[in-house]
Amino acid sequence: MGEKVEAKEERIMVSVRMRPLNGRESGDSSDWECISPTTVMFRSTVPDRAMFPTAYTYDRVFGPNCSTRQVYEEGAKEVALSVVNGINSSIFAYGQTSSGKTYTMTGITEYSVMDIYDYIEKHPEREFMLKFSAIEIYNEAVRDLLSHDTTPLRLLDDPEKGTTVEKLTEETLRDKDHLRDLLGMCEAQRQIGETALNEASSRSHQILRLTIESSVKQYLGKGKSSTLVSCVNFVDLAGSERASQTASAGMRLKEGSHINRSLLTLGKVVRQLRFVWFVFFLQE
Ligand code: ADP
Repeated sequence: MGEKVEAKEERIMVSVRMRPLNGRESGDSSDWECISPTTVMFRSTVPDRAMFPTAYTYDRVFGPNCSTRQVYEEGAKEVALSVVNGINSSIFAYGQTSSGKTYTMTGITEYSVMDIYDYIEKHPEREFMLKFSAIEIYNEAVRDLLSHDTTPLRLLDDPEKGTTVEKLTEETLRDKDHLRDLLGMCEAQRQIGETALNEASSRSHQILRLTIESSVKQYLGKGKSSTLVSCVNFVDLAGSERASQTASAGMRLKEGSHINRSLLTLGKVVRQLRFVWFVFFLQE
């Protein structure tokens, strides 16, 4: 209970989603089991360790039979929608390659976009402007996913705005179909690498950012309007596995060490965010 209150104050929620076993894994038994909506139990199938099951408690755990809709409704929705009220938020997916990060984040992003547009339609008294940008961080290089130019972008430290990405494309959205097209473009542009764990595993971090500006229509142009500006980040991190587990060598190993360094930096960033929702994934 004490922990829960603390988590609310910090505005950080940590959830776990376990994906179902796939074709290649079927027949394996899982070491992990959801024993309540907030607790997962680890019971090693290695005989001499089987005596010591360990329980881990999170804000929410989602078992293999839970749909992405449920993960969204019961976890991410509140965080994503806080953006329409002027609160910044971020939703992260962290876990091993092939644990379901991209699968879950894609669904969560789509549901969030639908709900944000639904909110806008229900609030005709406010004027909304939505902007979208997308970056990929691969081997410490930042790339614009909305541009065909693959030249790495520079990071600038602005005393007022904080860290910004120079020359990053920011599209002003016409409607949700426009956003859907842009999301499709990001998917196509995203760096894909090969590892021993998953042929199409992603070796890069992806950050999609939706910025929403809104003001009361009645006051527009009258000088007394207070405009709310906030953004929601959807972050799909590169696989968290240790280099040794993916039989990594050479280039991959270098990528792995970059990924870990990026995660350290990310930790610093997270401390400055106001509202974060972590999805921790466990490998089944
Ligand atoms: P990651 O981004 O963590 O590397 P992916 O999202 O690419 O992993 O998922 C790996 C594979 O497992 C994909 O083929 C994906 O479609 C499938 N998958 C992931 N999560 C689920 C789920 N909850 N239900 C069904 N299939 C899933």
